[in-house]
Amino acid sequence: MNFDITYTYNDSNHVIIAGPCSAETPEQTMETAKMIKDLGIKIFRAGAWKPRTKPGSFEGMGEEALKWISQAKKETSLLVATEIAGPKHLELALKYNIDIFWLGARTTANPFLVQEIVEAAKGLNNCFLIKNPINPDADLWIGAIERFLNSSIYNIAAVHRGFSMYKSGYFRNNPQWQIPIEVKRVFPKLKMICDPSHIGGKRDLIETISQHSLDIGFDGLMIETHINPDSALSDSQQQITPTELKRILSTLKFKDNNEKDIESSIIKLRDEIDSIDSRVMELLSERMNISRKIGLFKKSNNIPILQPERYHQIMSRNTLLANELSMDPQFIKSIMEAIHKESIRQQLTQ
Ligand code: PEP
Ligand code: MN
Repeated sequence: MNFDITYTYNDSNHVIIAGPCSAETPEQTMETAKMIKDLGIKIFRAGAWKPRTKPGSFEGMGEEALKWISQAKKETSLLVATEIAGPKHLELALKYNIDIFWLGARTTANPFLVQEIVEAAKGLNNCFLIKNPINPDADLWIGAIERFLNSSIYNIAAVHRGFSMYKSGYFRNNPQWQIPIEVKRVFPKLKMICDPSHIGGKRDLIETISQHSLDIGFDGLMIETHINPDSALSDSQQQITPTELKRILSTLKFKDNNEKDIESSIIKLRDEIDSIDSRVMELLSERMNISRKIGLFKKSNNIPILQPERYHQIMSRNTLLANELSMDPQFIKSIMEAIHKESIRQQLTQ
């Protein structure tokens, strides 16, 4: 696998891609590109077509945007990248000399579309960045990468932008770090770039998410950067100014290749634990919601809150389950007692 973007940031051995979520106007595109160039970054990103969850949101400036991106490339000699969601986008973007294309999360999730893009990309030397699919499915991501490789398109890299969950919590898109790690295990030479902007969804999280990705051996970062983030037409909360980008890049600790031992890193195991803990928290919160509903029901039907036979039923059911799952029944008993106690407290608040 040869990833042709040798334009690494300073002497860091890492690829940095920066630019606005969307190219909005010729001035915003050009000014942002120039400031990014001044930071020593070599690759400028800007979306021309924006896949939005709901109609009515800003959907990008399309071909007009490509003209501005192309102009920015001419004036700054930066490499330029944009999102394509089908062969027509690719054809148009090539007309405007775009260097790098990324497949967005919604596109990677659709094997028909990925295949159509791959067919249209055969024989090109441009680089393709494959973002993870929107749902946490390592195989779907691996499958999209395989489609490129099967067509002898080797100038590719993967971009981790997190996964959409039923309810978004702390992160806009849950990182589930074990998934990019699994993809890297399958393709050890594949460059893995982190997109902390879409993972965090908030400016304040960019630095920590970026550092975490570098700590587990990622090869680069794609960071949404806008001259005036608050007035951005898409993803305004997660975009940062070039000045803030400069600060973040100077604070981050980039690892050299020897330090990037993804496989053996304890961080990898801690990530798995963190993601399990999040699931446990979400399930507990769901359980408490149901308890409150039961509380309301008991109240309106004059049923006493504490029902000893139900308590014994819960305890014996879970002690049996603990045995089946090879866990200490005493440990499960103490957890279930704590959960039950909190459930009763929640029901009393109704
Ligand atoms: C983007 O990079 O602006 C974008 C829309 O990405 P994603 O597909 O990750 O949502
Ligand atoms: Mn965006």
